[in-house]
Amino acid sequence: MASFTPSSASDRAPGATTASWRATVLTLYPAMFPGPLGEALAGRALADDIWSLDCMDIRDYARDKHHSVDDAPFGGGPGMVMRPDVLADAIDGARASMEQTGGTTGPVIYLSPRGTPLKQSRVREIASGPGVTLICGRFEGVDERVLESRDIEEISVGDYVLSGGEIAALTVIDACVRLLPGVMGAAESLSEESFEHGLLEYPHYTRPRSFEGRDVPEVLLSGDHERIRSWRHAQAEKTTRIRRADLWAGVTDECGNTRARP
Ligand code: SAH
Repeated sequence: MASFTPSSASDRAPGATTASWRATVLTLYPAMFPGPLGEALAGRALADDIWSLDCMDIRDYARDKHHSVDDAPFGGGPGMVMRPDVLADAIDGARASMEQTGGTTGPVIYLSPRGTPLKQSRVREIASGPGVTLICGRFEGVDERVLESRDIEEISVGDYVLSGGEIAALTVIDACVRLLPGVMGAAESLSEESFEHGLLEYPHYTRPRSFEGRDVPEVLLSGDHERIRSWRHAQAEKTTRIRRADLWAGVTDECGNTRARP
């Protein structure tokens, strides 16, 4: 198992607490990690030990001399299917190694286009727990029985098909890590974001004040914080109503009534 820990990890006193939030990834392509999560905000937080990443190569659990992890589908059809026995061993291995180190796996999730679409509310739940274990599929996907026998949650990152679960796993981890305490500078920038109140975010403007003949809305230059707040809220509502009827249908006013009009 490859662990991505900060260079200072070896300097820590024995028994010192390890990173509080832990991502474990089961993949056939461990070299894809930490990938983009080693950079910028997530990369800094990884180096600062705010979170840690363990990558397990599913192929290490192969049982035959060819190290095969997949086989042809029963019933025929194109492509290959990941074997349940190999994957079950990898999942059990992840759970066992987590128990040895006194941690818990958090939810065990298979990234799948058939899964529950990922929402910010689920991201918040996962980020507030001990961590997450993510299973990355390849080929046509995994044998159904391992999902049943290991009681695996399925999550989709959108209604399109990726070539593997790795980029979806990076997406889930990235969305969680930025919510961990100490990762983002200003806490209020999180509370105002898209989806936090069921609304998309208001538009942003910065210098220059005039760009190709387009001026920054006057209200943002007014210094009147109450007017700015209410303008931004109105913009967030308008954008949500126009772009996302599905979200708008769930938005309620101060009295709890939905805002959507037939
Ligand atoms: N035959 C499958 C697609 C397999 S794609 C189907 O039609 O549903 C190969 C792998 O990519 C999957 O096992 C899954 O782990 C990952 N994947 C593809 N699209 C995804 C999505 N939208 N969300 C999460 N994971 C996805």
